[in-house]
Amino acid sequence: MTTIKTIPEPAREIPVRREVDVLVVGGGPAGIMAAEAAAKGGARTMLIESRGFLGGNLAIGLPILGFLGRKGNQIIKGLPQQFIDRLREKGAAGEHVPCKLHVSLTIIDPEQAKSEALATMERAGVEVLMYVLCVDAIKRDGKVCGVVIESKAGREAILARTVIDCTGDADVAFRAGVECRKGDQTGGMQPPTLMFCMRGVDVDALRRAIVEHPDIYDMDTMPAEQFRRRNFITVGLRSQIARAREAGIDIPVARTILITGMADDEIWVNMSRVNGVDSTDPASYTHGETVARRQIYEIERYLKEFVPGFADAEMKCVAPFMGIRESRVIVGRYVLTADDILSCRRFDDAVAVASYPVDIHHAVGGDCSLYWCEDCYDIPFRSLVPAAVGGLLVAGRCASLSHEAMASARVMSTCMAMGEAAGRAAAQALRDGVEVADIDVSKLQRELLETGAFLRK
Ligand SMILES: Cc1cc2nc3c(=O)[nH]c(=O)nc-3n(C[C@H](O)[C@H](O)[C@H](O)COP(=O)(O)OP(=O)(O)OC[C@H]3O[C@@H](n4cnc5c(N)ncnc54)[C@H](O)[C@@H]3O)c2cc1C
Repeated sequence: MTTIKTIPEPAREIPVRREVDVLVVGGGPAGIMAAEAAAKGGARTMLIESRGFLGGNLAIGLPILGFLGRKGNQIIKGLPQQFIDRLREKGAAGEHVPCKLHVSLTIIDPEQAKSEALATMERAGVEVLMYVLCVDAIKRDGKVCGVVIESKAGREAILARTVIDCTGDADVAFRAGVECRKGDQTGGMQPPTLMFCMRGVDVDALRRAIVEHPDIYDMDTMPAEQFRRRNFITVGLRSQIARAREAGIDIPVARTILITGMADDEIWVNMSRVNGVDSTDPASYTHGETVARRQIYEIERYLKEFVPGFADAEMKCVAPFMGIRESRVIVGRYVLTADDILSCRRFDDAVAVASYPVDIHHAVGGDCSLYWCEDCYDIPFRSLVPAAVGGLLVAGRCASLSHEAMASARVMSTCMAMGEAAGRAAAQALRDGVEVADIDVSKLQRELLETGAFLRK
């Protein structure tokens, strides 16, 4: 057994930087919606973020999946839709396009998404503090009542009536002693990807190749017809990858995943993959970034040599960080399961609706499995509530979800809807003078509906 060398850390007084009603930790899709909703509900709200921009994975070149359900109806509305509406006004988001494989995709401009996230916070009156890492939870009488942050300004505290953990890694919950788990039964987690953007792509040539020669340019599940639309995602070209491998190009994935961007010649590439990375271990995450950096140039070569439309294209930018599909999730009052998803389960305490398939990028190898429900499923409020620790809600991909359920509920539209519900719940708890876990959920549901969110009647 290896023993870890330790040193004592002396106890010390640390300054309280701020006392607020609601503190949201993590400014990704879940966090920005949670903060906006809490502030709109009348709570003095603060959002803290470790990076120098808001957006989380909204900023790495991904389309937002899952605004529409399997039956084509819109199942994510409310604040997430308003966010898209504002992006559309600037020409920075596309329509919600149905997709046989991904249910629906909504293309956004990642830089504009960052700006709009900040503007949304300003408009809602949320105090934003970036470049601070939440490193600990503060508890009183078994309840979370704030967090400890570290920054260039040193170690400080922020106190809050309710904390909403939207870190993606359940950092606050974990530090507060909430039971957390990672991955499947063996701890295997979905691998991360470093996204990059190619410009100068002849997207029409790519489209034509897929539509006119599906025998050569194969697509998983999706009919070739789908590629006649302006915006699409390719998942396939398995045969081209096989040819490239024969030619000695090292491709870590089985499928070619390409996403159209806002510009006509823009394609985002979702193809690097480093198995076994754990984002809660900096050495592991560093290894992932290092390997993925090497992979992307090999993938660029593959695209230029084997994929129609890429011959004259070039890599224009790389995402600001490697995106993490899976890490810690909490064990909450209810753990959502694949059965719940595949049976389109309804819950009395539903606070969001989702429809995206269980989409598992395998922890080992380079492939992926997808399982769809027929329509859509509910996310219960209890999946945002830690089982045994008060004062805290957890929204986004680190909510109380089984490995398989997380593979569905992780998409950004669903994370945004969870964030909205958590923010409104925290503001309601404040108004009603109750612990957030004990709010009247039917009242929360009424408020969500009245303010434009979608719940099944
Ligand atoms: C490669 C990849 C491809 C994907 N493809 C799609 C797709 O096409 N469409 C789709 O909709 N979804 C996709 N997903 C899933 C989706 O992007 C994520 O599941 C979703 O963004 C999770 O949202 P979140 O708000 O929970 O967390 P995140 O987006 O991870 O945001 C968490 C935020 O918290 C901050 N933070 C973390 N820890 C701390 C801390 N301790 N202190 C302060 N701040 C902190 C982070 O900096 C970040 O801004 C993909 C994910 C990956 C990785």
